Amino acid sequence: MKALVVGAGIGGLTAAVALRRAGIEVELYERAPQLRAAGTGLSIMSNAVAALRSCDVDLDGGQSIETFELLTSTGRPIRTVPLKEITDRLGVPSVCIHRAELQQELLLAAGDCPIMLGANAFRYGYDKRGVRLWLADGRVARGDVLIGADGLHSAVRRQLAGPQAPREAGYGCWLAVIPFRHDRVTPGYVGHYWGRGKRFGLIDLGGGRVYWWGTRNGGLDDPLRSYRGWAEEVQAAVAATPPEAITTVSAMDRPPLPSWGDGPVTLLGDAAHPMLTSLGQGAGMAIEDAVVLARTLAGAADPCQALRSYEAQRRARTRRMVRVSRLLSKVEQASLPWTAALRDAVFRWMPRPMLVRQNESALVFPSPGAHHADTH
Ligand SMILES: Cc1cc2nc3c(=O)[nH]c(=O)nc-3n(C[C@H](O)[C@H](O)[C@H](O)COP(=O)(O)OP(=O)(O)OC[C@H]3O[C@@H](n4cnc5c(N)ncnc54)[C@H](O)[C@@H]3O)c2cc1C
Repeated sequence: MKALVVGAGIGGLTAAVALRRAGIEVELYERAPQLRAAGTGLSIMSNAVAALRSCDVDLDGGQSIETFELLTSTGRPIRTVPLKEITDRLGVPSVCIHRAELQQELLLAAGDCPIMLGANAFRYGYDKRGVRLWLADGRVARGDVLIGADGLHSAVRRQLAGPQAPREAGYGCWLAVIPFRHDRVTPGYVGHYWGRGKRFGLIDLGGGRVYWWGTRNGGLDDPLRSYRGWAEEVQAAVAATPPEAITTVSAMDRPPLPSWGDGPVTLLGDAAHPMLTSLGQGAGMAIEDAVVLARTLAGAADPCQALRSYEAQRRARTRRMVRVSRLLSKVEQASLPWTAALRDAVFRWMPRPMLVRQNESALVFPSPGAHHADTH
């Protein structure tokens, strides 16, 4: 069987690794002219670390999360999230890593998989003999199945499900990775600082580097001004960042699709279910998709049926992640004094077993019930 994979992001690369291990031939088609070592930081939670390990990909370059604090904007503790306790019990760490390092690990594991660069997928077609992929430059690729792993603005999704624009969440994000040391940033530190309509994440990447992100309702302005008066380490991290090292994006997701397959064609990762970042699980879900897809396609007598089975196995979990990320992001971005105070109080007083339960279900792969197809 030969799979054409559109997009060499985290999902597409993981799919290439997992499919090849399952004995399936893969060709990757990536629009970018080069695979640049770009991007900022990522949290790869335990479920995705477990999925990667099942393909022998170890995140050696990453930093395991040792402390996860929720704090007020001025740095007063709200709550310690018992992440470390959960991940110790599961025996799989959650890891923060530079995107470029994850990409390198995946490229290494993908070995000699052909990656066609400058290959802008345009549309697909299929018949009984297989699937064809047309590239914008007129080239045509042929295979048995086509996997659209082409991200938020997926061309494969557009043809499959229509041209709807993504859903804006109403806030923007700054992101940066910088060399930075501070007493507060202990090894494996993750601090989420909550203000009103603004948040800040400060994350140890190891090796004297931090990954930070900031959010602001409405448009982004000058981050230095936005975080004036915040905890000392927050202001210091922003001040230590040259403007050209800061990336900006608008927070966006899409409502879940009722179905994301068409004959020998399916979607994976952000192409299927882009989500807001509050759970840090967007890339994690793309990684899980890739592993489940490969397991389901391996040795399948009917590839189209196997793709429908993969989609059914992934639908409930990814839909829940989209929904919870959106809900949590709304709560976290609270901008009125009383809604922000209520948010802080809820997290401060939430019973510990509830906090553990809420976090733990996301962190397990294969997720409970993953093998029960959800056909709704
Ligand atoms: C600010 C921010 C912070 C985030 N933090 C986290 C986090 O901490 N943890 C986490 O798990 N997730 C996080 N995410 C989400 C995560 O980045 C995505 O879910 C993940 O990158 C999705 O991977 P993907 O492979 O599906 O898509 P992408 O990574 O978007 O890859 C798609 C690829 O397809 C290519 N492509 C696009 N169109 C075409 C075409 N027509 N033809 C050929 N190639 C094409 C693109 O060039 C790209 O290489 C974050 C997202 C944002 C915006």
